[in-house]
Amino acid sequence: MQVYQQSLKRVSLVFLRAGETLSFEVNDDHRQKVRSLIAELALRLRADDEWVPKVGGHCDRCGFAQYCAAKTEKPEPLPEGGRKLRLVQLALAV
Ligand code: SF4
Repeated sequence: MQVYQQSLKRVSLVFLRAGETLSFEVNDDHRQKVRSLIAELALRLRADDEWVPKVGGHCDRCGFAQYCAAKTEKPEPLPEGGRKLRLVQLALAV
């Protein structure tokens, strides 16, 4: 809403393989559930002190791969100040 200055009123899920579309109106219950989910994820992100990398095909598109000890045998040292980025403030508009 803050980006588009409009609230989401209708959602359509398009299932390409089945060739079907499922549409429904967004109500206050949906909005509240999404806000709760985002708030919970934000809290978990803030509390997450240990991040375990998972190597896979997605690593080919990762901008962090050169620093990643899980992916690269001799990773480059992190750039100066890289560790200080953990100070993140998360806020949700009510
Ligand atoms: S290179 Fe490391 S950080 Fe990047 S996706 Fe792979 S495991 Fe994750």
